[in-house]
Amino acid sequence: MKSWVICRVGGCAICMHPLFIVALLAAAITGYGNIFMLVFAVVLAHEMCHTAVAAILRYEIVKVELMPFGGVATLEGLGEGRPSDEAIIALAGPLGNMLLITAALALDWLFALPEYPLMLFVSVNATMGVFNLLPALPLDGGRVLRSLLARPLGPVKATRAGALAGMVLAVALAAYGVWGLFFGIINLSVFLVAIFLLIAAVREYRRAPYLLAGIVRGSRRHTRPVNHLAAAGDETVSSLVHSFLPGMYNVVTVLDEEGQQIGELTEEAVLRALQKGTAAVQAGQILR
Ligand SMILES: [Zn+2]
Repeated sequence: MKSWVICRVGGCAICMHPLFIVALLAAAITGYGNIFMLVFAVVLAHEMCHTAVAAILRYEIVKVELMPFGGVATLEGLGEGRPSDEAIIALAGPLGNMLLITAALALDWLFALPEYPLMLFVSVNATMGVFNLLPALPLDGGRVLRSLLARPLGPVKATRAGALAGMVLAVALAAYGVWGLFFGIINLSVFLVAIFLLIAAVREYRRAPYLLAGIVRGSRRHTRPVNHLAAAGDETVSSLVHSFLPGMYNVVTVLDEEGQQIGELTEEAVLRALQKGTAAVQAGQILR
């Protein structure tokens, strides 16, 4: 099921999954419309924190998809160039939730806010912030995990590992919901989050091999400066990609043991090798 674009801010499309709208209607009918709108506002604020930090780091935000547990921001040029950037952008969301809690408590201290909306606001932010730190894609903690695994495993395998963790988490959440049913506790939001998580995790898993191709295709739309690197022939493609700069055309001069040039690799050649799932292949081997 494709997400619907609800508005555009600059080049960024704000989208909503159709199931999100179904959930909103269900909440409105059952009298939980106010709580749902609060969750929605917190989700939006959380996503804005990601996009603001991404913009500061000069990434282009192409899509923000809203989901009940947060949202998924698609940033052009992100994923493989600098894994640390992905971790910083990911952590900005939960940090935003913590800042909102701090701001609300500060306002309460100054103006003594009514207790009910305040505690609801604090608990929604705390739940969203903490839940998103779980190491499973597409959650923010999963993006941090991917950035940590990107170097040893390569971006494709790192993404798949994170997505598998997401699927496991979704199944665990659903099992928790079913377990509650035996005690007469019907918690629909647990099932809702489990479904969204599963849909998004499966999509991340499937999309993994295309991440790299997408980056090159995306950056081809613009004229870009060349980032010229020199590397030893035994350097692996996954370590080469970590030296690639987003938004630039990366070219690698490959050197032999004596430091003599043995050939040149374009970023397409390097990404193609990586896409085949061969992160350990060496620069010299692609030339042959
Ligand atoms: Zn987030």
